[in-house]
Amino acid sequence: MISRVIRIRAVNVLINKRFLSSSSRSTSRSFTKSTIASQSSAAAAYELDDEPDLFASYSSASDVEKANQLYANQIQITETSDRGYGVHAIKPFAPGELVLKANALATIPRDTHTLQKDWDTHIMVDVPARLLNHSCDANVGLMDNEEGGYDFIALRMIEVGEELVWDYESTEWEIRGFEKCICGAANCRGSIGGFKKHGAEVEAQYGEYIANYLKNSSK
Ligand SMILES: [Zn+2]
Repeated sequence: MISRVIRIRAVNVLINKRFLSSSSRSTSRSFTKSTIASQSSAAAAYELDDEPDLFASYSSASDVEKANQLYANQIQITETSDRGYGVHAIKPFAPGELVLKANALATIPRDTHTLQKDWDTHIMVDVPARLLNHSCDANVGLMDNEEGGYDFIALRMIEVGEELVWDYESTEWEIRGFEKCICGAANCRGSIGGFKKHGAEVEAQYGEYIANYLKNSSK
């Protein structure tokens, strides 16, 4: 387990270096969770048995290609010119429709790429969920699913070509190091501090589409 964690961190370093080189372009509208210092039924094809290979090449070109095949004609991951990967709709999604699943690959100590599932539980999720960018005005929201991950649901009508964005503050209790949010949404909260900081606003905005463990914690 220790060696696995070390390997993940090594990959993270590479990803963060990539972001640093692209972040100099200040027009960035949003950014992936990999930058925070922080189903279709086809997605079930990511089985835990595949875990070692996935970790060895996390977010590699082959993972992206594999995810794009799983979600063919639904969503597509592309490498943008200014902010790393982005995930876009290539079919319309109706409000309430399942867009993709974030499958839990492992429970690990919190790091810059985990999603929080409970007060002391952080999961590493697969691609494409891991490559979704943040927005304070998310068009996909999440719900805990029975497989220990999250389902991402369309919060409103999503048109072909729209980027899929979710709100990192709807799962993470505390996010440090991002005093300034650059999502560019009209209702941008200005900073990303996590549910601890913006819980009341986040819960009012997304209702049931926040992590279960956070529900009612802002009151
Ligand atoms: Zn924002």
